[in-house]
Amino acid sequence: MPAKKAADSGKAAAESAATGRGASKAPADKDAVSKGAASKGASKSVSKGAVVRKPESHTALVRRARRVNRELAEIYPYAHPELDFENPFQLVVATVLSAQTTDLRVNQTTPALFAKYPTPEDLAAADPAEVEEILRPTGFFRAKTKSVMGLSKALVEEFGGEVPGRLEDLVKLPGVGRKTAFVVLGNAFGRPGITVDTHFQRLVRRWKWTEATEPDKIEAAVGALFPKSDWTMLSHHVIFHGRRICHARKPACGACPIAPLCPAYGEGETDPEKAKKLLKYEKGGFPGQRLNPPQSYLDAGGRPAPPLGAG
Ligand code: SF4
Repeated sequence: MPAKKAADSGKAAAESAATGRGASKAPADKDAVSKGAASKGASKSVSKGAVVRKPESHTALVRRARRVNRELAEIYPYAHPELDFENPFQLVVATVLSAQTTDLRVNQTTPALFAKYPTPEDLAAADPAEVEEILRPTGFFRAKTKSVMGLSKALVEEFGGEVPGRLEDLVKLPGVGRKTAFVVLGNAFGRPGITVDTHFQRLVRRWKWTEATEPDKIEAAVGALFPKSDWTMLSHHVIFHGRRICHARKPACGACPIAPLCPAYGEGETDPEKAKKLLKYEKGGFPGQRLNPPQSYLDAGGRPAPPLGAG
């Protein structure tokens, strides 16, 4: 699979360069693209080979955004939440713990936490010093201990020890904002939600899906481009792509299968061989973030993450 994808990626990048639908490094082209002209047929040639592109219409943007999502679904058919969890309580706790650290580190830490405190009642009644010791590897462990114990207490006192399945209830829990609430709703309750994390913010802005910078506005703008039923998987696709290929500092444009649809093509490494070396997780042949990933991930050649201390 990686070899095929790499070949596809090189082809895509070459196509991008040939069609001019990806951005080039030339400032003039960047300006043209910044006006939202990545869609087919949105350009016309003028004298001396300069290219003037029309602004992308809302309809064209919707079509391009949905096409990106369809292509990402083919690249990551196994996309999933990258936090290990077995029930809504574990997911809400793991999501709170994931602030300021990697999902991998959370996944390596939560097995000990949930083995000792399997329910909100257990965690609410725990000795904080013992919880702090378990959570130490996630960083900010004192604050996180307070958060997850406060959260557990609220679940016990206000929701009968159950995680509520409504946005308005979830955001009342200590340490739970809209992002965490949507992760829980989308993945533990099957209710559509857009997860605007750092990867999502970066990619949708690179793709010119929105110019917004605030998470709530990004959520609204991107949500308007897709049917609600697509929201949860869209979030996984985008976040998977951000973690594996479209990195913050060095996007692997030369190995990116959606380069022909991307106005920011050229922001990263365009040489296919050099770009291939930037790929992460299963795309680069490395273990993933979950110790217990879904079977579809393993079937696609993904490898489980090692337990804490093993690598
Ligand atoms: S790696 Fe990112 S910036 Fe580069 S072409 Fe792909 S989506 Fe665009």
